[in-house]
Amino acid sequence: MMAPTPENRFVCIHGHFYQPPREDPWTGRVPRQPSAGEDHDWNARIARECYIPNARARIANGRNETLAYVNNYAFLSFNFGPTLLNWLAAEHPEDYKRLLTADRESGVRLEGHGNAIAQAYSHMILPLAGARDQVTQVRWGIADFRARFHRDPEALWLPETAVDSGTLRVLIDHGLKYAILAPSQAKRARRIGESKWTDAAASTLDTGHPYRWTDRASKAQRSIALFFYDGELSQAVAFGKLMASSETAAERIGEAFDPAQRHSRLVSIATDGETYGHHDKFAEMGLAHLLKYELPARRISPVNFGYHLAKHRPTWEAEIRENTAWSCAHGLARWEGGCDCGSEGRSTQWRAPLREALDWLRDQLAAVAEAETHRLVRDFWEVRDDYIDVLLDPSAENVDLFCRRRMIVDPTPETKRALLRILECQKFAMFMYTSCGWFFSDIGGLEAVQNLKYAARAVELAEETGLADGLEAGFLKRLKAGEAVYRRLARTAAAR
Ligand SMILES: [Zn+2]
Repeated sequence: MMAPTPENRFVCIHGHFYQPPREDPWTGRVPRQPSAGEDHDWNARIARECYIPNARARIANGRNETLAYVNNYAFLSFNFGPTLLNWLAAEHPEDYKRLLTADRESGVRLEGHGNAIAQAYSHMILPLAGARDQVTQVRWGIADFRARFHRDPEALWLPETAVDSGTLRVLIDHGLKYAILAPSQAKRARRIGESKWTDAAASTLDTGHPYRWTDRASKAQRSIALFFYDGELSQAVAFGKLMASSETAAERIGEAFDPAQRHSRLVSIATDGETYGHHDKFAEMGLAHLLKYELPARRISPVNFGYHLAKHRPTWEAEIRENTAWSCAHGLARWEGGCDCGSEGRSTQWRAPLREALDWLRDQLAAVAEAETHRLVRDFWEVRDDYIDVLLDPSAENVDLFCRRRMIVDPTPETKRALLRILECQKFAMFMYTSCGWFFSDIGGLEAVQNLKYAARAVELAEETGLADGLEAGFLKRLKAGEAVYRRLARTAAAR
């Protein structure tokens, strides 16, 4: 079904499927979240409305009789957050397997280019993270991907598509071939070989082909491809309920191709995957109908970016707008304070202090980690990069193997415990930056409180070393108005 046609009309629909980790850092369990309604928690609700239905989307005729079931993931480009996949694999193993199957089948259909791409492990805004966290996030994301999909990822989803040159450099360092960005993130573009740049605007940028981004700071002029998605179409899918009618969606996609154009063109759409079924009821059925009937009828082939890139090397290049993202028109202000995106009329004054307090805490925790482990391992930060091995396989045998391989002292129960405690502390020191914590209007909301819980757990683990004093007081001083929320909702979790 739907092998790429010899024609030149391609569409790539990317779904970013993601929920923040919701597990209580003390128990490892997701607590009941009453705001999720009849479901136990938001993971469960969105799985029921979106993740599962997209793995077996029903196509019905006018009499509501089932004609077929489609695994949408086999025809989308997609990424899932690793922490969400941990949850999905445990709670819905059969549907989780359909994701893996979708990637395998798409790889067969598209000459080895599977539909799945990786994601920065715990969804932090990479340009705002220090170099050390950036590298660990990318390494953990890649390792997690390999362990699940049994192949190397060709790309890695940048949380909120947040980007700067440093972030792209890390992607290049790790052998990734392309990144997906919003059209508003292009600064200027030109045909490769030409000298004159043209300023880019989201409304005029030609998103029908990939661009090359070159790291001009490197002698070797290393590069990575960039795909800028079609802004109007993506907006219509994400916020205009375009997928309610697969026929209208197919027409709109068809209009994005110039009938006179001879060379091949890619129309790309990128949205949150939750659009299909959660934000937009039954959109997964519209999507399935689009993929199975409407697109083939118009001789438009659904492909993924990796396949398209292999066939069409960039003949254009672009520069990016530094420190931008797809869901804030003010650089990265949504995640560091300074704009009202997502404020719903409330004050967002808490966002800057939250970032500042966490940055301070991160640096303190790094110092504790180095002081605690300098006698245990050669290079703690390399060991942290490798700690994903333990997260992927926490069996006693594997933990033991991990310690024996990395430690420069006898791995006694005490020394092992000391190392593993600091590694867990560091894991939470990254989880506390989950971008969703800043996204909404209230520091007392589920997502921000989740970050505060991670911070509280990291503080607790650091204090157990006996090398950290006054961490919590220093953190709270910087958190300012957030202190009450921390004490009421985050810290009390520790006392149970
Ligand atoms: Zn903003």
